[in-house]
Amino acid sequence: MTMDRRSFTLGMAKGAIGAGIASMLPTAALAAPAKKTATGLDVLVLGAGVSGLQAAWMLEEQGLKVAVLEGRQRVGGRVMTLLDEPGYPEMGFNSMGEGYGRGIDAAQRAGVTLEDIGSRYRAGKPPMLWMNGQPLTREQWASHPGNPFPDSMKSVLPAEMVNKLLAERTPLADWNAWADPASAALDVPLHDFLRAQGLSDPAIRLANDVSPYYGTNSWDVSALMLEFNDGFVKAQFEAGTKSFGVKGGNLHLPIGMAKLLKGDVILGKEIVAIETTDSGATVYCRDGSTFSAKRVICSLPFSTLRHVKIMPGLSGAQAEAVSQIAYQPLSMAFLTATAPFWDEDGLSPGMWTDGLAGTVIPQHFGATPEEVTGLLVQARGSLANYWDRLGREKALAMIVGQIEAMRPAAKGKLMARNYFSWSQEVFNGGDWAYFGPGQVSRLVPEMSKPSGRLHFCGEHTATGARGLEGALESAERVALEVLEA
Ligand SMILES: Cc1cc2nc3c(=O)[nH]c(=O)nc-3n(C[C@H](O)[C@H](O)[C@H](O)COP(=O)(O)OP(=O)(O)OC[C@H]3O[C@@H](n4cnc5c(N)ncnc54)[C@H](O)[C@@H]3O)c2cc1C
Repeated sequence: MTMDRRSFTLGMAKGAIGAGIASMLPTAALAAPAKKTATGLDVLVLGAGVSGLQAAWMLEEQGLKVAVLEGRQRVGGRVMTLLDEPGYPEMGFNSMGEGYGRGIDAAQRAGVTLEDIGSRYRAGKPPMLWMNGQPLTREQWASHPGNPFPDSMKSVLPAEMVNKLLAERTPLADWNAWADPASAALDVPLHDFLRAQGLSDPAIRLANDVSPYYGTNSWDVSALMLEFNDGFVKAQFEAGTKSFGVKGGNLHLPIGMAKLLKGDVILGKEIVAIETTDSGATVYCRDGSTFSAKRVICSLPFSTLRHVKIMPGLSGAQAEAVSQIAYQPLSMAFLTATAPFWDEDGLSPGMWTDGLAGTVIPQHFGATPEEVTGLLVQARGSLANYWDRLGREKALAMIVGQIEAMRPAAKGKLMARNYFSWSQEVFNGGDWAYFGPGQVSRLVPEMSKPSGRLHFCGEHTATGARGLEGALESAERVALEVLEA
């Protein structure tokens, strides 16, 4: 049984989606005209995140007949905006730099408007450090008895330390060569790199493990991966200082990309098995439907692909990558305030805490950059796992309680509106992929190679860019691969 665009649209109209994100999509996104059913296909693309949508569009431009299968009842994957919340808070992809050539191009094609949101994040007082429940300015931190950083770096804030050391002292001469065998000696735990920079274990715990950008602690992530990321970030700064977000919410980008496609984007199709032969490929869905094409492009994160049966099975480093690559735990709460308590206590609304409240990021997406439309509270690594184990309601109550305990002016003024955990999303199982020590050298060169008629894309397979730009880069690579096959 297949389902074309029209029947999908009707299914949505019947309210099959309940309170899910799809019910918040603009009507225009659901009112696409009926298209051909997914038969006689050249390529089936699995996953309607930006990489899958981009690969599908590129192949259609070359005259191929393509359909996209998506497990969720929405497109966009890790691009996910709460469209019914004030300021349209982003639960996923936040912004693109001026060097995002592919991202900017995709936005233009999709007909969405990009606006510079960087200045909005910089609006108002800079976030404050909260240690053990007490607010500290940078100056107070520099002379604080609990500051474990080396004397020459006492005024560096914990949230700045890892990126600063990477930026100033990376041993990776050419960041584009991160996955080359010549860089293998750098594929060590981040912990080793940080120790070599003079950080003690307590300093490493504070600078990284309390709120790790990648991984759950400095042992389980490769320094080489972070050095690659550092190179990409520097290249972005060289391109310009603006950070672009999509006006009205980033989710409009994948919605616009999906509307560009001639073939079907079929939602609610959870892939459970992929079978390839010498002459074609068949994809099996949880609901019993099957789809066939000459080739399959799989953009599923490996965290979910590992639950899909692949026939014939993958082998070697590729099989190891699919089963082993870790995904970043990241959980978020969205709060609003009935009154600006930060004006009352005179402190910044932004907080980086060493405690259970994680990091509080004010959202400045109202009519003026000064207006705070909400507070995005973020936990990464082990803290995210802890929040998730508490469960949504208890976690939200705990977060509100923690902020109120630190800031009495906030008491009774916080409203917990939303909780979102990337680890608990069955179609992601974590935020972005990260490589453990040794995995860059062992897995990256092998893991994205085609296996017969099965091809791979997605941010985890990018080798030249990061984030959304990396996802789009991977789509280009895989589209060329299919065209040349
Ligand atoms: C919190 C957060 C913040 C971010 N911030 C930034 C940023 O500021 N800048 C930046 O450049 N990048 C950022 N990113 C990263 C960026 O969003 C991703 O790199 C990009 O969106 C990934 O696209 P993708 O197509 O590779 O994967 P995905 O978007 O994950 O797409 C994969 C698709 O496959 C589907 N799927 C999975 N399993 C199945 C299955 N079994 N059956 C059917 N379908 C399935 C999923 O539902 C999903 O739609 C951020 C990500 C997150 C989560």
